[in-house]
Amino acid sequence: MLLSPIGLAVDQLDTPALLLDLDAFEANVRTMADHFRSRSVSWRPHAKAFKSPAIAHALARAGAIGVTVAKVSEAEVMAGAGIRDILVAHLVVGPSKVARLAALQRQAEVKATVDHPDHLAPMAAAAREAGVEVGVLVDVDLGMGRNGVRSVDDAVSLSRRVADTPGLRFDGLMGYEGHTLFIPDQHTKRLAIGEAIGRLVEAKEAVEEAGLPCRIVSAGGTGSYQYTADIPGLTELQAGGGVFACRYYTEVCRVVGHRPAISVLATVVGRPTPSLAILDIGRKSISDYQTPPVLLDYPSSTVIGLSAEHVKVELGADDRLSIGDRVRVVPGYSDFTFVLHDRILACRGGRVEAVWPLLGRGMLQ
Ligand code: PLP
Repeated sequence: MLLSPIGLAVDQLDTPALLLDLDAFEANVRTMADHFRSRSVSWRPHAKAFKSPAIAHALARAGAIGVTVAKVSEAEVMAGAGIRDILVAHLVVGPSKVARLAALQRQAEVKATVDHPDHLAPMAAAAREAGVEVGVLVDVDLGMGRNGVRSVDDAVSLSRRVADTPGLRFDGLMGYEGHTLFIPDQHTKRLAIGEAIGRLVEAKEAVEEAGLPCRIVSAGGTGSYQYTADIPGLTELQAGGGVFACRYYTEVCRVVGHRPAISVLATVVGRPTPSLAILDIGRKSISDYQTPPVLLDYPSSTVIGLSAEHVKVELGADDRLSIGDRVRVVPGYSDFTFVLHDRILACRGGRVEAVWPLLGRGMLQ
């Protein structure tokens, strides 16, 4: 039986365990909330990483207007836990999903995104059948080459079709400048983000000239928000995962001013050579996507290998680790780490203060 870990010291916890450093998390939340507030743009954090209503509520208390999600099932979890304003920033296709999207409108305002005329009829029919209206954003490709209409003309004509479709309500536009996140030179990155968001603003102006007001113009992610939020024309930003400040954001996307808040607690289970330590975590408990994990309290040691259940650490000259020691390991990417855990232990001053179940975990539909 799993006893409640609340009140336990971190050193007493069994491993692997996903930890949230509440002081660092709250500082990151303040950094993001203040950034958006000072630029008069709303914050709709993407919840695809954490999938936890408790965390969504913590962000709402800091000023977030609601959440962005990727899946209808994630929206169900959030709506069921009292989050009232939700954007599904992914294409919703299939009879079951459109019916669930329509049914959700009784619990919360759950907006959908579309980028093709074929998306409209099934969604509208489901809405009419349920006796509700579904708010819709037209997704515009900002250069990423994934979802989104490819031209301003297509944005105008699809927006018009949404507005003319009973059961649907045209709420505005969205886009995602995801192709700009990894640009190393910050001047070049700022220019690329300006160009990408410029496409969305151009589409918004054309749609509004066609007589369709855009109540919402949504874009942005953690890897770009520190530039995106400066650009006039957006009403809200979707940056979410940055509240955890894993290495993907701080090292790969070079987001500044965030402190690592998430780590996986591991036990040293082997010391096969004087310079090598083996941990009881691996790809089934921590992600090395884009960049290897690092040991929080042993900065001169290096993760040199991951397999399913093992991490190999090359010890730095000054680091001492013995079998049984606990180490906190910051993931490469928080998004791909959360999906490996059922809960996160929120800690302060070295003790567990709260346990937050990751209720949206496994909600892939
Ligand atoms: N918006 C959309 C549509 C996305 O796909 C993503 C990331 O994949 C984001 C925003 C950014 O999310 P985050 O800030 O958690 O990196």
